[in-house]
Amino acid sequence: MTLVIDAHNHIGPRTGAGQTGAELVAKMDQAGVRKGVIFPFVEGNFTNDAVKVAYDEFPDRLIPYCAVNAWEPGAAAEVRRCVKEWGFKGLKLHPTINGYHLADPKLCNPLFEEAGDLGIPIIVHGASDLFNAPPEFAEMARRFPRVKLLMAHMGFFWGVEQAIAYAQELPNLYLETSRAPIHEITTAVRELPPGKVIWGTDSPFVDYEWEFKKMERCSKDPATYAAVVGGTIAEILNIAA
Ligand SMILES: [Zn+2]
Repeated sequence: MTLVIDAHNHIGPRTGAGQTGAELVAKMDQAGVRKGVIFPFVEGNFTNDAVKVAYDEFPDRLIPYCAVNAWEPGAAAEVRRCVKEWGFKGLKLHPTINGYHLADPKLCNPLFEEAGDLGIPIIVHGASDLFNAPPEFAEMARRFPRVKLLMAHMGFFWGVEQAIAYAQELPNLYLETSRAPIHEITTAVRELPPGKVIWGTDSPFVDYEWEFKKMERCSKDPATYAAVVGGTIAEILNIAA
């Protein structure tokens, strides 16, 4: 059976949204999704506590990442603490909401160094906004070749073609599909080598089932489909099928 892993979900409280581990697992069960990557909402003053609670409750279903605000002086230490003490598997950043350029050397180099030392991937909000446009990803992927970097939303709206070109050029840059339309996803899957496009939903901000169902159209090749909906992120996170 295809190993299906959702690479992008938010857990915790947030004004206007919010999601618990149990709520997410119920959506995953209904859609036939085996595992889900989870991280906090990053608006305002956030912590990683709700992710820890959800992971403790569903250790076989949920894959915890921490999130930090790069402006916080203790950001790199918090990444290390979450990985070393809590067993977290990755890092989420949101340059636009927290207000910094992804390629800012003083703010982000220490976080990428830490992720490289810890051997964890980084997923970054990657719509075509100023602070995290595709060239900022390319710069960081070049600067830190040992860090696997996922561009969430694959540069949608205006940066998709740039995102595809950079993912083609840089072995450690991956495109994550949440909230992108199937036309753009199909284009990325067709133009890129295998193992570069990764499925995620961005729950709870989506119709969960639809975000999964739309992926049936991403490729007619079963092996390619399996890589997109779980195989590639499983390799990155060393998850056995
Ligand atoms: Zn998100």
